[in-house]
Amino acid sequence: MAAPDLGRIVADIYAELAPRIGEGEVADYIPELAQVNPRQFGIAVITPEGEVVTAGDADRPFSIQSISKVFLLTLALGRIGESLWTRVGREPSGSAFNSIVQLEQEAGRPRNPFINAGAIVVTDVAMAGHSPREAIGEILTFMRYLADDEDILIDQAVAASELATGARNQALGWFMRSFDRLDHDVDKVLGVYFHHCAIAMSCRQLARAGLFLAAGGRDPVRGHAVVRPARARRINALMLTCGLYDASGDFAYRVGLPGKSGVGGGILAVAPGRAAICVWSPGLDGFGNSRLGGQALEALARRTGWSVFG
Ligand code: GLN
Repeated sequence: MAAPDLGRIVADIYAELAPRIGEGEVADYIPELAQVNPRQFGIAVITPEGEVVTAGDADRPFSIQSISKVFLLTLALGRIGESLWTRVGREPSGSAFNSIVQLEQEAGRPRNPFINAGAIVVTDVAMAGHSPREAIGEILTFMRYLADDEDILIDQAVAASELATGARNQALGWFMRSFDRLDHDVDKVLGVYFHHCAIAMSCRQLARAGLFLAAGGRDPVRGHAVVRPARARRINALMLTCGLYDASGDFAYRVGLPGKSGVGGGILAVAPGRAAICVWSPGLDGFGNSRLGGQALEALARRTGWSVFG
């Protein structure tokens, strides 16, 4: 297949969806996110060859929220390798991102690293040998390295807002603690968890940070290996099966790409060998996934033929 004209495709998709900017509901269970203007929409696509195509608000930082879970998983696998899977599963949950119900049935072991309970465990693993402050610093340094951008920051107002209203995540943490599933104090783990969810990045920065997943684990721009090819493949497999919570099946059906969403309205998607893509629009559907973002990715996959299913 001839290389798609990405500039044209992204501009067309932006123009087609622009009349619908503002659809959906912003996440309001985190008060600071409830303040976000829903009328924003950005797209960034970056290829392993270094081509970057953007549209709309692609350079405006937003709260990455659960997209951080991909990068925490990468860090935790780097720390303890495949033994991570004794702590967390690899199966889609079929329930909401903040659900507690399976934890009771499965002895406090979360179904996968991309639901909140799973990411809290992964955070606990990534904290080994670090104070919470050091752990947050390490995560931020990793994001800056991957995005090749030292300007990335944590939005402290969002982190404080999550801490103040995080009863559900506290419940998940304490419930797992009751099964002896955490090595560190629940409050410390949640402090680190809320801070990495509150990292602010733009579509361009997130697509750049995810590029190694589209390039067999290498940062193709700098020529560094971030992870081995098999690990990149497995992270992509988890994104495909679990990255959009209980809408992961629908996303695989409509888009056909590994993806990870966050309640800030971002979705990072990976077209292996082709591109890393980040879309952002704060209006969410009932599953907590960006409405316009999902539609933009569906159109992009259709126009480029990038679905992993051929
Ligand atoms: N920080 C959010 C939470 O813990 C992340 C959830 C999400 O993006 N789906 O609730």
